[in-house]
Amino acid sequence: MTEKGKELFDKVKENINILQTEGTLEKQFGDFWKLACTIKTRQHDLQYLYDDSSREFVDKYRETLIKMREDFVNHMDDYVEKCINIMRKKNFTVYYAKTNEEAQKIFMEELGDTKTIYKSKSNQAKDIGIIDILKTNNIKIKETDLGDVLVQLFKYELPSFQVGPGAHFTEEEIAAKIKEVYDVDLEPKAHAIVDFFRNTYRKELLNDIKVSLTSANAISAEDGTIVLGENEGNISLITRATEKHIVVCGITKIVPNILDAVLITKLQSRINNVSYNYISLISGPSNTSDIQGTSVQGMYGAKEVVVILVDDWRTKAAKKNLFYKEFLKCIGCKSCIFPCTASRAFGNIFASKYGLGGIAIIRDYIHNGIEAAVEDGLFLCTSCENCYHWCPVSINLGEILRKMKKEASEKGLAPPYLDQYKEKIFKEKNPFK
Ligand code: SF4
Ligand code: SF4
Repeated sequence: MTEKGKELFDKVKENINILQTEGTLEKQFGDFWKLACTIKTRQHDLQYLYDDSSREFVDKYRETLIKMREDFVNHMDDYVEKCINIMRKKNFTVYYAKTNEEAQKIFMEELGDTKTIYKSKSNQAKDIGIIDILKTNNIKIKETDLGDVLVQLFKYELPSFQVGPGAHFTEEEIAAKIKEVYDVDLEPKAHAIVDFFRNTYRKELLNDIKVSLTSANAISAEDGTIVLGENEGNISLITRATEKHIVVCGITKIVPNILDAVLITKLQSRINNVSYNYISLISGPSNTSDIQGTSVQGMYGAKEVVVILVDDWRTKAAKKNLFYKEFLKCIGCKSCIFPCTASRAFGNIFASKYGLGGIAIIRDYIHNGIEAAVEDGLFLCTSCENCYHWCPVSINLGEILRKMKKEASEKGLAPPYLDQYKEKIFKEKNPFK
């Protein structure tokens, strides 16, 4: 094991110790997360709404999905070209960014001298480095999903629960925080907290937005429609009551047609136990031809919709047949996180700045290399392959992570006990002797 390996191993150990310390936000998150995973894997999902469980729903569409994603990976260039062409015809401003850096540059140019941005659904923006570049340029980032608003209010830095990112804060803690930040006394009850934000923040969202940022659940190549699902209504507000709506996402968000795009959005909703009360289909900027038939953009909705489609590692992974090529099929549903043994034991310690679980660690590896992945807790993965069995597209994340572990071991970055186990297996045929 190299010095670097030892340093990374100590950092992971330190994080695990914090996770186990009573009273810390990490411990609070861990407890909440374990409960959420248990509920999810026991299938207490949206069955009160539907006849089937989300697992049955996934199984019904698994074959369709696999074929759809394989077709995309095998014809990526064609789909991207088709999608860009139709979007331009529909008055979207579309960019194809070869790298994350190029996407960041385009984004900053599109932002102009705007100093505040309102955002939601932006995991992809994080992935592409947009959040980092905004922070570097001192642009004020305003979250709009209530869970993210709370995370921002508490200045909680670790990756959070993807469905309710602030669900581990108690009502009493939130009311106390609101008193501290806004000097407002609230009853520590969910409805009072929601009312507080509805009566204050909602007005700001309706009146004051120059630029908003989202990703997309999926984009249809056939007609260039962007699909966005949500339950709060914040995405509807910030994508309509804005001058400019910027969408940043990887090219892998493209699917053949609108039905596929809605299916993927619906799957994400079912898998995550969130009833998407609003599904937006955005097919261009706001437009009217009511004055003498002259087409004018920007009536009540966004004047401009800018789409930045980012390639970065994606085409290279497909064409060079890289070992993580399978990851191109990912639809970002996060189904692999709930049953993951490492995630359930370590919550947001088995994670990276891109989010929770194996998918986030693979992303960190792709962007920042093997040392970053080891520091994220790569070796906490037990290779159980629950992720593979739960994935609606049957991506074997366990196998990808195993190959990353091999690379780490060859570079002397594996934890010391693994070498000891290996030696004992070879000598004693028993790792524990
Ligand atoms: S193989 Fe690793 S990433 Fe996949 S579920 Fe098991 S512990 Fe999690
Ligand atoms: S890898 Fe995970 S997030 Fe991606 S499609 Fe499979 S289950 Fe969903």
